Amino acid sequence: MLRRLRAFVNSLAEPWFPTLCLRCGVVGTSPCPECSEEFTPAHVVGETAHLDAVVALVVYDEVSRPFIADLKFRGKWATVQAFTPAMSFLLDECIGTERPGPVLTWAPTTPTRARQRGFDQAEVIARHVAHYSGRPVLKLLDRRPGEHQTGRSRSERSTGIHFDPRRPVYGAIVVFDDVVTTGSTLSAAAQALRFAGASAVVGVTLAATPDRPKR
Ligand SMILES: [Zn+2]
Repeated sequence: MLRRLRAFVNSLAEPWFPTLCLRCGVVGTSPCPECSEEFTPAHVVGETAHLDAVVALVVYDEVSRPFIADLKFRGKWATVQAFTPAMSFLLDECIGTERPGPVLTWAPTTPTRARQRGFDQAEVIARHVAHYSGRPVLKLLDRRPGEHQTGRSRSERSTGIHFDPRRPVYGAIVVFDDVVTTGSTLSAAAQALRFAGASAVVGVTLAATPDRPKR
């Protein structure tokens, strides 16, 4: 009886729903350290309008895609948790280690999508990195629903992405997103942040599609 009780108490120390690596199924983190070695590092991404720099942690390929999908569509935070230390380090390399340093924010997903999923993956990434690295994080942007096309520039009409700043900002701002493909989302976010007063905008993403031109 005592032994069974002890086994039960010990089991409480273990998480009830352990995290399994999405790729190999090993218990611990997702990705596990071994699978993390399989990712292709991305770092500096080609030039994007309105941004001083865009950095991505990994290349968006067959290795990283399932992990990003796990986060984006199923709200599994394991991917973000596993990548947060590396993303914080990447950010330190990019903007320096000074604290508090620039404010972190994110390019919000469309309100409809955020409602459907119950979360905004870009916000989850920004908040995890801010918490881990001791940097300030603020919601600085609202995303317009996207149907309204009148009164926009040609580039805005072609992408249909527009953000409105929620308040005036000062100095440099770091804007997060999950994946950078064409850069149009980050670019629209940076444009709004500059309009609000940002002197510099740096984009940080978990992954970047490999066909972007590298600097
Ligand atoms: Zn693994």
